[in-house]
Amino acid sequence: MIFKNFVDMHSHTNHSFDGNYPIEELCESSIERGIKTVAFTDHVEMDFFREKEFDKTADESFADIVRAKELFKDRIEICVGVELGQPTYNVKESEELISSKDYDFVIGSIHNLRDMEDFCYLKYDGADIDALLRTYWNELKLLADWAKFDTFAHLTYPLRYIVGENKIPVDMAKYQKDVDEILSILVSKDKALEINTSGLRQPIGITMPAEDIVKRFKALGGKMVTVGSDSHFTEHMGAGIEQGMQLAKNCGFDSVCIFRKRQPVEIPIE
Ligand SMILES: [Zn+2]
Ligand SMILES: [Zn+2]
Repeated sequence: MIFKNFVDMHSHTNHSFDGNYPIEELCESSIERGIKTVAFTDHVEMDFFREKEFDKTADESFADIVRAKELFKDRIEICVGVELGQPTYNVKESEELISSKDYDFVIGSIHNLRDMEDFCYLKYDGADIDALLRTYWNELKLLADWAKFDTFAHLTYPLRYIVGENKIPVDMAKYQKDVDEILSILVSKDKALEINTSGLRQPIGITMPAEDIVKRFKALGGKMVTVGSDSHFTEHMGAGIEQGMQLAKNCGFDSVCIFRKRQPVEIPIE
């Protein structure tokens, strides 16, 4: 391991619809891998909050993480987290949820456009990619502006499917103004940007966002980054975190953040 401080701020237990392992196994795997702090951040998709019973998921996941935090407290630090999907599509219940639970850490995400499926399920053959991406950037601006999260998840998420899986090239230079605007809002709201390392083990082969965007965030005044594997499996706990921390360093950050009781704590990259 290159760094002695090894933290993973994005992972899913079997309380996520796409999660696979109970929290105890994920904790054991994290400890084995030398992770010092781990955040469990199960999916709560706010646009289907009651319809798909994410209200129940939120309660069950929260209780389980709190239980594990106590159980493992002498062996690993656990941040009680949540990945809020599309909170801007259901602001009222999102704000109620995060104020009703004593979370350490809230991730803000967009997985789908309004009244559409997750980008992972869309068919891109013949699709108007430019229109999809323009709508996506606009939704990200609204999410950044809402700002009641701690870190802004996997910017460029659709590229995992468009570029990575469907091999459709996207010229990101066209969207620099949009990306700059999103990053500037995050800076003005004093939010962290997530370096999501899941792309490193997927066909896209790079972090979300890529290094040039993290550099741009720094240049625009960004102060905080989090690094997360977005693991859904024991074997992916901490995956790509060292590369993610190295990338943060390359972009001029000398620390990554963890969150305790919604407050950022800087962990030196060393
Ligand atoms: Zn996500
Ligand atoms: Zn996730």
